[in-house]
Amino acid sequence: MLPFKLIYHEGYDLNLGAHVFPSQKYRMIRDTLLQDGIAAAEDFFSPEPANDQDVLRVHSQEYVYKLKTGTLSQTEILRMEVPYSRKLIEACWLAAGGSVLAGRCALEDGWAANIGGGFHHACPDHGEGFCVIHDVAVAIRRLQFDGAIERAMVVDADVHQGNGTAVIFGGDLDVYTLSLHQEHNYPFPKPPSTVDVDLPDGIGDEQYLAILEKHLHQAFHDFSPNIVFYVAGADPYREDQLGGLALTLAGLARRDALVFDYARRNEAPVAITLAGGYARRVADTIAIHVGTIVAAREAARHDADRAKSRVQ
Ligand SMILES: [Zn+2]
Repeated sequence: MLPFKLIYHEGYDLNLGAHVFPSQKYRMIRDTLLQDGIAAAEDFFSPEPANDQDVLRVHSQEYVYKLKTGTLSQTEILRMEVPYSRKLIEACWLAAGGSVLAGRCALEDGWAANIGGGFHHACPDHGEGFCVIHDVAVAIRRLQFDGAIERAMVVDADVHQGNGTAVIFGGDLDVYTLSLHQEHNYPFPKPPSTVDVDLPDGIGDEQYLAILEKHLHQAFHDFSPNIVFYVAGADPYREDQLGGLALTLAGLARRDALVFDYARRNEAPVAITLAGGYARRVADTIAIHVGTIVAAREAARHDADRAKSRVQ
């Protein structure tokens, strides 16, 4: 059994069929976590779809109306890069509800992971880059609305810049957004996050981890969040079809551990979301996401040991 909750719903599958986005990955990650004995059935919570009020704290009324009534223009659908369907909309609302629930569980237990979400390219008035609704922003705004948090940090380690996050929280001093991404990759242009780290093509584990550590150090020096949302994209992997960095599986696990270590040393609960992952072999994408959960488990255990030694 895990010391924190995993949020999952079978409706997360975007039903994309043969698409570079392996939308069946959510189910495969859940199955692997169970089969490998990393998680038990009772570790999983099932989310409700986000309510429209929560979505409307982030997205425009017009955009939400078009999504719900199937009246997006052809251009708008092409920009999303995923085919429009009823199921897609249900999946996006569920993913947003899942990130809200992950945020709440993280505040309670110190940790939580949405086995979905991380749709960081979704903007207030349109979707793009496989992202329709910005689940992390919906969660942050809801937790703020509830008075559960004041300040949030988004640590985005997907290979693509979190342009939706940057637009939504631009100028908001209560939300610190750190995006570490490949410079010569989608999206263009890249609206400014609080801190953007433009990485050169092809960098590997050691260089990446040194840069990440420097920026985590600075971020937690400059800002003390009540919660960290970690956008744990699997696409900085060297075998990724849409990424141009060269991290190994072991390097990605060290990346996760580093983020968790900084968050917890600064006493910030962590809510994990998955974001992208387009490895040539889907099994690698699954392994990277499962590795993130394992890294969180190790960090949570470490936390518990530390608490115990403080009591003794
Ligand atoms: Zn990505």
